[in-house]
Amino acid sequence: MTDVIIIGGGPAGMSVALNLLRAGHSVLILEKENFGGQIANSPRVENIPGTKEISGLDFAGNLFEQILDLGAKFELEEVTRVLKLDNSFEVTTNYHTYEAAAVVIANGVKHRKMNLPNEEEFIGKGISFCAVCDGAFYKDKDVYLIGDANTALQYALMLANTCTNVYMFTLFDRFFADQILIDRLVQKDNIHITHNMNLVAYLGQNELAGLRFENTKDHSIHEYPTNNVFVAIGQVPQNDAFKSLVQTDERGFIETNEKMETSVPGIFAIGDTRKKDVRQVASAIGDASVASVFIDKYLQLSNRAK
Ligand SMILES: Cc1cc2nc3c(=O)[nH]c(=O)nc-3n(C[C@H](O)[C@H](O)[C@H](O)COP(=O)(O)OP(=O)(O)OC[C@H]3O[C@@H](n4cnc5c(N)ncnc54)[C@H](O)[C@@H]3O)c2cc1C
Repeated sequence: MTDVIIIGGGPAGMSVALNLLRAGHSVLILEKENFGGQIANSPRVENIPGTKEISGLDFAGNLFEQILDLGAKFELEEVTRVLKLDNSFEVTTNYHTYEAAAVVIANGVKHRKMNLPNEEEFIGKGISFCAVCDGAFYKDKDVYLIGDANTALQYALMLANTCTNVYMFTLFDRFFADQILIDRLVQKDNIHITHNMNLVAYLGQNELAGLRFENTKDHSIHEYPTNNVFVAIGQVPQNDAFKSLVQTDERGFIETNEKMETSVPGIFAIGDTRKKDVRQVASAIGDASVASVFIDKYLQLSNRAK
């Protein structure tokens, strides 16, 4: 039996692993896709104290190496269920079943979709949620981008370096992003911003062929022929597998107290998956350091109780 199973290998999951390993506990990290989580999609991270600038991929790689050196065990598996046993937890993945004394849910968030017809079918056929992953396909071409917050602005700035033009559409008449990013954005000659535009349809038969917008002010309809769009409109939790176990809020984020304890003793939640106002690398790392102290206490108490 492992001391702690960590669900998710993003900044939160790897950071809590780091602290728990240093405290002498065994940990198993279960990650369904790739280690690093969302930050691996960021070309340039500038708000990690002590590091002026680093790519998200390098940050994730460094952290992964750090926990591997400390003896972290990991598997590339998706957790589908957590069951509370008498003195432990059974964690089931798409391949195996494991047992641990404590569990940390650090499964982050996933991309919010527009939920328009054709969206699922056109993903990978013109619709992308990740400019870092797919931006290179559009070198020297025009690209379309939907979104108004930090991720969208980071994507626009990155795409503007290699694409001919970036046509950016926002739902409201302003951005909801850090001022430093807005300042950089407006300086770029090849980023063209259109505010107050609501995407109402993906056009095309078997692949994306265009976008239809409705202007939110005068309700005029505008169509743009294109075979690409980057959608960066926020994130949603992915807690369906845990909803019946731990308490979540009305949007599906996991409720915790200040110690990162969930409604079930022995299950902790950290990072973007929990109910909170600020979702960043630094706050994910902060959650992890708080949680590791109280997981350590929980393990000591449960060992004594045995
Ligand atoms: C493009 C982009 C740029 C960003 N730039 C910045 C920035 O510059 N600065 C900053 O501070 N923040 C930035 N962020 C936000 C930051 O990346 C997140 O706040 C941070 O990654 C949250 O960490 P996390 O570990 O809680 O969750 P995540 O990073 O979402 O990691 C969760 C991990 O859990 C895995 N997972 C999910 N469900 C399961 C399951 N059932 N079983 C196993 N594994 C599972 C996922 O695959 C994922 O790897 C950016 C985000 C994006 C998308």
